[in-house]
Amino acid sequence: MLFPDEPPPFEVVNPDGTSGLFLICDHASPRMPRALGTLGLRPEQLLDHIGWDIGAAQVARRLSALLDAPLVLSGYSRLAIDCNRPLHVASSIPAVTAGIPVPGNEHLSDDERRARQEALFWPYHRAIEALLARRPRPLALISVHSFTPSFPGQVRPWPVAVVYGQDRHLAGLMFDQLRVDDPGLLVGDNEPYQVTPSSDYGIPTYGEGRGIPAFLLEIRQDGIASEAGALAWADRIAHAYRAIEPRIRRR
Ligand SMILES: [Zn+2]
Repeated sequence: MLFPDEPPPFEVVNPDGTSGLFLICDHASPRMPRALGTLGLRPEQLLDHIGWDIGAAQVARRLSALLDAPLVLSGYSRLAIDCNRPLHVASSIPAVTAGIPVPGNEHLSDDERRARQEALFWPYHRAIEALLARRPRPLALISVHSFTPSFPGQVRPWPVAVVYGQDRHLAGLMFDQLRVDDPGLLVGDNEPYQVTPSSDYGIPTYGEGRGIPAFLLEIRQDGIASEAGALAWADRIAHAYRAIEPRIRRR
């Protein structure tokens, strides 16, 4: 699916970083494989929040640098295939997203689905697996995301949120620390959504599946759409992570 001159489906940053923290960024890029065109959407729609997590990659890269932590980023749009969804759910390759039809994702054959899985989804996850396998067991894993302030039918007042599934340990430490650092900060606690095995891949697979304390860090996009905003949020999160690191229970 990818032509030789297109970028790879993942990027590994700081693979030999000394931190016990392992970072992933599933929705890092709005890039669409050339072979898929625009999926029938307008070009500006591909750059909106439906295509990627605006600002998240910049936060993740800065966190990686500040904490000397390894980071794996996906290389292509979540509209081509969502790297944080199990392959068997409809939202893996969404025919409708946030109420918007995606014509190029309708009525796909099994072969067309498999082509995207093999070109985009599996290389990213194999890169994470390979890096996990050749490093010491992580103390913690954070999956860096961002969310849109305006979603149909939902008000989203939290500038930042921790999102988790069965294990709140690491998310709870971060939740408490963010409020210690800024008592006026409204931190979402499993808002605006939760981690479930059908709506998520990374936390169930790398966190719960391996017993590594993990959560989704979700930052509202208006806070990190600018470079200055992204860097400032990364600084706050890095500060909070340093404070909680001694209290993380090693598994
Ligand atoms: Zn995301």
